[in-house]
Amino acid sequence: MGTCTALYAAKNCDALREPVVLVERDSLASGASGRTSAIVHQGFADRTMAGMARDAVKVYAGMRSSTGRSLGYRRTGALILAGDDPNAIAELDANIEVQRSLAIDVIRMGAEEMRQLFPSIDISDEAIGAWQPEGGFIDPARTISVFASLARENGATIRERSGSHKLLLDAGRVVGIETETATYYSDNVVLATGAWTHTFLSDYGVDIPMRALKTRESFLSMPPVEGLEEDEMDLEASQLDMETRFLVDPLDSAPVAHPVLIDLERDFQARCDPLQGRTRVEQLGLANAEEIESPDGWTPEQSEEFGGWAREAIAGRLPIYTEQEDLGTHSAWLTVSPDGVPVVGPVDSIPGLYIMTGFSGRDFHLAPSIGEGLAQMILGQPVSAFDPKALSPSRFA
Ligand SMILES: Cc1cc2nc3c(=O)[nH]c(=O)nc-3n(C[C@H](O)[C@H](O)[C@H](O)COP(=O)(O)OP(=O)(O)OC[C@H]3O[C@@H](n4cnc5c(N)ncnc54)[C@H](O)[C@@H]3O)c2cc1C
Repeated sequence: MGTCTALYAAKNCDALREPVVLVERDSLASGASGRTSAIVHQGFADRTMAGMARDAVKVYAGMRSSTGRSLGYRRTGALILAGDDPNAIAELDANIEVQRSLAIDVIRMGAEEMRQLFPSIDISDEAIGAWQPEGGFIDPARTISVFASLARENGATIRERSGSHKLLLDAGRVVGIETETATYYSDNVVLATGAWTHTFLSDYGVDIPMRALKTRESFLSMPPVEGLEEDEMDLEASQLDMETRFLVDPLDSAPVAHPVLIDLERDFQARCDPLQGRTRVEQLGLANAEEIESPDGWTPEQSEEFGGWAREAIAGRLPIYTEQEDLGTHSAWLTVSPDGVPVVGPVDSIPGLYIMTGFSGRDFHLAPSIGEGLAQMILGQPVSAFDPKALSPSRFA
């Protein structure tokens, strides 16, 4: 979120008169963004979220042709599977209507069509799904690195390992930040501090009721890709770090065993991670997720229990996973707001301070719109990238 916002701000600011500085206390991607599946699709029920996701996918898909840099956007397509429950199907149909009204390409599918997409899928003949041809995933590390490079090209400065920060205030207004190594004066400060935002703000008497929830992912070896021999799927290490418009980038081309699957009935999402030869499986629902106080000093935990749950979930739907090798699990965190809607905009009690948090696991779906909209907001322009009222922190005042 921070690099994307720095990019949009830098694009719109004069580098000499209104310099943009991104200050990261650790290293870029050291937070939740470096631990994500980075699935992207536009299958949201909420109009604002679906619209932002539509715009994000366009940005990701066009990045290579507009800048020559790849984000590893893989347009595998994403299937959102409702199953055969009439209520779930009615909900999916309502969502499809919202998405179509936003000109999102979405196809309502019955069981036979879904079996064409996932030959081994175990679904009832009455099952219904929504196919999003533009859905897929991006490579999170590459995306952050490209956003950072483009921000620099547009005049932004990025300072990593700056240590802890505090706000500089003058008569209650923000006038900059102070880190362990430097002081930066600015009339506008954006906190893109993810799960740390709540604690950071509480030092200034601001209570935005965010929670950080533990989330887990399980890794299973990716099944063979139909029509390919195993050695055709091996990639040399030297092929993995390249940025060029003219050569085939493995991030854009490594074969996947199947499209992204978002299974609402079985409560999981799965995507292939072809460069690692694995599939990532994550639980969708957060109802039982454990709340954590702070991600400081986070050590990812293994969980056999979650690994067992994840295998059962995916193998119950795609039996090809029954025998795939177990490659372990990891854990990280998501930041959620009480109403599940992101919290983006000015902090009323501290003029000049803006926050962006509470994306509830949809961060990469929304990042370009959030970055663009915040830049518009700070520059006093009409906000066209999202609905500022719907996301405003003042709804919790
Ligand atoms: C397992 C998992 C799967 C996910 N899957 C998806 C998915 O499929 N699709 C999707 O869109 N999203 C997904 N997400 C969500 C998403 O990727 C992340 O939650 C998101 O990228 C967080 O972005 P962020 O920039 O808000 O926070 P972070 O990436 O956590 O960044 C916050 C940064 O702020 C820095 N910081 C903190 N305090 C300070 C301070 N005082 N001063 C300076 N810097 C500070 C931290 O060091 C950190 O680098 C997933 C997340 C997880 C964990």
